[in-house]
Amino acid sequence: MPVIRVALSVPVDTLFDYQADDASEQDIGARACVPFGKKKLTGVIVAVGTETQIAAEKLKPAHCIFREIKPLPAALLDLFHFCNQYYHHPLGMVIMNGLPVKLRNNKAAILKRNPHDDCYVLTATGASIDLSSIPARNRVARNLLSEFQRAAALTALQVKQISPRAVKLIPEWIQLGWITVQPVSAARVTDTAKIPALTSGQASAVDAITASNQQFDTWLLHGVTGSGKTEIYLRIIEPMLAQDKQTLVLIPEISLTPQLEAIFRNRFPAVPLVSLHSGLNDTERLSGWLQAQSGAAKIILGTRLAVFTPLPNLGLIIVDEEQDSSFKQQDGLRYSARDLAIFRGKQANIPVVLGSATPSLESYHHALTGRYRHVRLLSRAVQNAALPSIRCIDTRINKTQDGLSQPLLQALDQCLKEKHQSLIFLNRRGYAPVLLCKSCGWSAACQRCSSRLVVHLRDKKLSCHHCGHQAQFPRACPHCGNQDITPFGQGTQRVEETLAAHFPSARILRIDRDSTRRKHAWQEILHAIQTQQVDILIGTQLLAKGHDFSNLALVGILNADNALYSTDFRASERLFAQLMQVAGRAGRANVAGHVLIQTEFPEHPLYQSLRQHNYDALAQTLLAERKIAGFPPYVYQALLRAEAHDIRIVLDFLDQAKQLAQSLETVELFDPVPAHMVRLKGLERGHVLVQSASRKHLQAFLTGWYEKLMTLPSQKVRWVLDVDPLEF
Ligand code: ADP
Ligand code: ZN
Ligand code: ZN
Repeated sequence: MPVIRVALSVPVDTLFDYQADDASEQDIGARACVPFGKKKLTGVIVAVGTETQIAAEKLKPAHCIFREIKPLPAALLDLFHFCNQYYHHPLGMVIMNGLPVKLRNNKAAILKRNPHDDCYVLTATGASIDLSSIPARNRVARNLLSEFQRAAALTALQVKQISPRAVKLIPEWIQLGWITVQPVSAARVTDTAKIPALTSGQASAVDAITASNQQFDTWLLHGVTGSGKTEIYLRIIEPMLAQDKQTLVLIPEISLTPQLEAIFRNRFPAVPLVSLHSGLNDTERLSGWLQAQSGAAKIILGTRLAVFTPLPNLGLIIVDEEQDSSFKQQDGLRYSARDLAIFRGKQANIPVVLGSATPSLESYHHALTGRYRHVRLLSRAVQNAALPSIRCIDTRINKTQDGLSQPLLQALDQCLKEKHQSLIFLNRRGYAPVLLCKSCGWSAACQRCSSRLVVHLRDKKLSCHHCGHQAQFPRACPHCGNQDITPFGQGTQRVEETLAAHFPSARILRIDRDSTRRKHAWQEILHAIQTQQVDILIGTQLLAKGHDFSNLALVGILNADNALYSTDFRASERLFAQLMQVAGRAGRANVAGHVLIQTEFPEHPLYQSLRQHNYDALAQTLLAERKIAGFPPYVYQALLRAEAHDIRIVLDFLDQAKQLAQSLETVELFDPVPAHMVRLKGLERGHVLVQSASRKHLQAFLTGWYEKLMTLPSQKVRWVLDVDPLEF
């Protein structure tokens, strides 16, 4: 009598046995729907056998095994097992977290033929139409045509992403003969004339990586901003396609997918590509996942979750902006998609390319010590595009008014006169405006988090950026009654107002979470920037990443200083990466770029390295500091995180947990402490830090500890192990 062992999404690290008369070894990796208590649950079969520890009368039959799609391949199951062991998280939760939502419920996965499989191609007639012949008020039509003229071909999904209204134009335009329909996989020819000749730096990078393409290696592709890393990706993907192999491309931000997707589709118009990110609905996501699983999709572009995609014919993995902390999941299974990508590369014995202008110190260290192979690009790819000049404005001398100094305002003015774009960048951390009473010092705080509420001037509301809690603007200070309470600090909205007052005729666009929340907001924003409908951009780190704005000449950076003296040992590394990236937005094509940083500490080594575009100088300094202080990458860390309604319960729990731990000479165990931000979303949080100079020792310790932790009564406390934590 066959017995299936099923991994279910429940918070205990065991498998559950069921009787399944029709099961065979072929079903390993298939989903099964089984009774669980009074409920039905669907999980994944990880083993099929005949033996079980469960008494025969207690062994329940499974409801059914789903066989409408192929079972998960062994390699993916191995990846899940690795996650289970390395991150010490229940296997069932690991697996179910990694599957598309539509595969987690108790239903068979039904997928209708997807009209999105079609693709529209611009005809010669369409290409010859002058954009200005479309009335300006007809914005959707204009955007759609200009996208077609840029990309030559668009999928139905891309059209929908431009605007739902654009979809309605398609039948009309087919009638007019502007576009034609083709199945996505139909062959089309790339316009080879548009492919740039590689710079010598790019050529040697491509040669080195492709030469070793049949074996595992981790490559750190370390190139200054604008050095043409994307072109390198395209060139190393090409031989994969020729061999009918799949490439997985991981990127940190969903906002970057459309841009990169367009570049890939342009270069490889005949190649089936899927993008997998949280902006898709469940059906779209399942469809992309299935195309990857069948091997039909050759390029899989996605955010961190895409690392769990089944890829039967994987040949290459690329992780763009590898230093980005969004590759690390910050709740539930706290995995690092970058690190798992390397595991997959090793598993499949294929190269993994980590791209960055400012690598994480971990990766840089590995490159220096020879664990990773280091490829450098020291200049920009576009001829005559130099790196931007970076200067500091000393705000002790040049006092700011409403956050802006005279030299910065003058530079903005100049830029406007020259009809170039400029960008004002606000370091969001600790920078949002708060409501402060100047007479008693009261400030508006969130009741559920230990954070201050952020002032939103436009809708006269206060809101918590951690939990979303909203409150009204009080008319007077609730503490002392003072009526003169004012927002303190500069938010994007305040800067926007100040700039609008200074430059009444400038077209200003503010980009923050509020303005990008709508589904297609990003596309519209990028389009507006690219078509020069904007003079001054104001934004936070959302803007810093990867975008290529050809007419951007000036970047002004406000108030980056507070990160210089943060208690987080990664703050300097992050600030440097962020400023380098945002500075890298300037002067990418034929426009010279200037960056002005307002600071009270112009002599700080971080700003000095930045001015000289000298990543190595700063990285070496920071590495030396880390070595002395005993921080990663010289040690390996893990946190036991716990949360409850009261910090005392948390610390008690952590104390007990600590006592359960085996004391080892090679592993250092610290005392329980409250988290940096104690209250979050109404819960109080604390942690115990564990570290070791040896990853192996740390892992052995965690395995033993995890088993004991599972036995602790923890009704009032939720806990999780966070291996290689990025936040404290
Ligand atoms: P990075 O990702 O390294 O910051 P990008 O890949 O965005 O840089 O490339 C920057 C710009 O250089 C892009 O506009 C790209 O089209 C251009 N570019 C890349 N390679 C070449 C090349 N070999 N010749 C000319 N232009 C290039
Ligand atoms: Zn809150
Ligand atoms: Zn007061």
